[in-house]
Amino acid sequence: MTSLIAVLPGDGIGPEVMRAGLRVLRAAADRHSLDIETREASFGGRALAETGAPFPSSTRDLCLEADAVLLGAVGLPGPPPADPALRPEQGLLNLRALLGVYANLRPIRPLPGASDASPLRADKLAGVDLIVVRELTGGVYFGEKQEGDDAASDLCTYSSEEVERVVRYAAGLARSRRGRLTSIDKANVLATSRLWRTVTGRVIAEEFPELELDHLLVDAAAMRLLTHAAQFDVLVTENMFGDILTDEASVLTGSLGMAPSASVGEGRRALYEPIHGTAPDIEGRNLANPCGMILSVAMMLELSLNSPEAARDVEAAVAASIADGVRTADIAGSATTEQLTEAILARLGRSTP
Ligand code: NAD
Repeated sequence: MTSLIAVLPGDGIGPEVMRAGLRVLRAAADRHSLDIETREASFGGRALAETGAPFPSSTRDLCLEADAVLLGAVGLPGPPPADPALRPEQGLLNLRALLGVYANLRPIRPLPGASDASPLRADKLAGVDLIVVRELTGGVYFGEKQEGDDAASDLCTYSSEEVERVVRYAAGLARSRRGRLTSIDKANVLATSRLWRTVTGRVIAEEFPELELDHLLVDAAAMRLLTHAAQFDVLVTENMFGDILTDEASVLTGSLGMAPSASVGEGRRALYEPIHGTAPDIEGRNLANPCGMILSVAMMLELSLNSPEAARDVEAAVAASIADGVRTADIAGSATTEQLTEAILARLGRSTP
C-alpha cells in the first residue's frame, strides 16, 4: 500500500533542509522497496504570502489525508505581528492540535565527530543516549491569552488525562530502553506541575511499577543536562519546559541542526520535523545542516512507514558521513548542505544489510 506523505517545506532554511530530506527519503524508499507518494503544500510564512493564512484549508486537508507530515520550519524574520492569525508559528500550533499529536519525541545521541563542535568536554558527552518526550498540545502555549499595553497573561492548564497519556507513552518507551523515567516539573511553584507530579506518580505506580521513576525540578534538569546527561534515559515534561530543555540538550549533539523530532498521538497520524527554526541568518547560503531533517526522515521511516531497517540505514549513513569529516559549519566543518547530503546518499546501505 502506498504511504502518502504531506511535505511542508515552510520558510527560511526549511525548504533547503527539506530538499535534502526528500532526496534521502526517496533513496531509502528505493533501497528498502517502500511505496511512498509525497505531496507538497504551502505552510507558514509562504502560505501567508500566498493565501493570507499560515495554515490554509487545502494544506489542512492534505495533512488529514496523509499517513505522515514532514515539516521543515516556519517563521519570518522581524517582530511577530500583533494578530496571532497572521503568525506562521500559529499555523504550527494549529497543525499539532489538528493531528492530535500530543507526544513529541526528541532523541539526543551525540555522534562521534559532530560532538567535537559541542562546547561541552568530551567526558560530559560520553554515553549520552536520552530521549525527551515533550507534551505538545497543552499547557501555556495553548492557554487563553490577554494582551494589553501594560499587562499580559498566558494561562497554563493541564488536565489529568493530558498528563496521563503522555506519561504512558514515555513510560512505554522507557520500558523498551533502560527502564529509567525522569519527570520534569516545577512543582515547588506551579499548580499544573503539582498535578503533573501526582498523576505521573500514580500512572507509574499502577501501570509501570518496574520502572525507576524520579522527579526533577526544571531548573535542576537544565543544569543536569549539561553536567550529568549520561544518567538520563527517558525524560517526560510539559510543553514549554520540553521546548526549552531540548534546544539546550541539542548542544550535546554539537548543534541545533543535528536534532530530529517525531510527534505522535493515538491514531496513525504523525508529524516529523527537525527541532530547529528557520535560521534567517543563514537562509539561502547552502550552509544549513540537513542532519536534523534527515534524522527526522529516519524516525518517519521507523514509526510511520514501519521500516526500522531503513531508519537504521539512514542513521548509519549520517553517522558515517560525520565521522568521515563531512560536516557543515555549525559542526566545525566546511561542507555545504548539498555536499553533506551527497555524502549521506553515497553511504546509504554501506553499513546495514
Ligand atoms: P533557529 O533555530 O532558527 O536558529 C538558532 C540558531 O541556530 C541560529 O544561529 C541558526 O543559524 C542556527 N541553526 C538553526 N538550525 C540550523 C541548521 N539546520 N544548520 C545550521 N545552523 C542552524 O531559532 P531562532 O533564530 O530563534 O528563530 C528563527 C525563526 O524560526 C523564528 O521565526 C522562530 O519563531 C522560528 N522557529 C520555528 C520553529 C519551527 O518551525 N519548529 C522552531 C524554532 C523557531
